[in-house]
Amino acid sequence: MSVINYAVRHLSVKHIVVCGHYNCGGVKAAMQSADLGILNPWLRNIRDVYRLHRQELDAIEEPNARFNRLVELNVQEQCINVIKTAAVQQSYVGKGYPVVHGWVYDLYTGNLIDLKIDFEGILHNIQEIYDLTGQGLMKKKDDQ
Ligand SMILES: [Zn+2]
Repeated sequence: MSVINYAVRHLSVKHIVVCGHYNCGGVKAAMQSADLGILNPWLRNIRDVYRLHRQELDAIEEPNARFNRLVELNVQEQCINVIKTAAVQQSYVGKGYPVVHGWVYDLYTGNLIDLKIDFEGILHNIQEIYDLTGQGLMKKKDDQ
C-alpha cells in the first residue's frame, strides 16, 4: 500500500492494473479447507472474497468454472481495495487519475482479459461509505 501511495502521490501514475491469473494455486488453496500455516492470512483474504460472493459462487456447479470465477472476483475485490485508498480517491477527485483496471491472465491461451470493472461506479459507491477526499460526497448527495 505504501508503494501505491508513492506511485500515486509522487509519480502521478495514470493507470493501476491489478492482474490475476486463472488456475492460480493460491486461489485453489483458499477453496480447500486446510491449515497452510504462514499462508493462512493471505488465504483468508481470498476466503473473504468467497464469503462476499458466496451466492454467486455456490450457484456455479462446475468446479473449474467456480474456481475461475473466484479468480476474477478476487481481482475485482483487490481493485476495490486499491480504490479505497486515500491516495487514489484524492488524486482522482483532484486530477482525474489514476484509473484502476482489473485484468486476468489466461496462461493456457496467452490471452490477457480486461474484466472491465466499473471504476467510476465503484469509486462513487466507495466514496459514499469510505470518503477520504474531504469533499463531503455523502452530504452533497443529500442536497441533490
Ligand atoms: Zn497465483
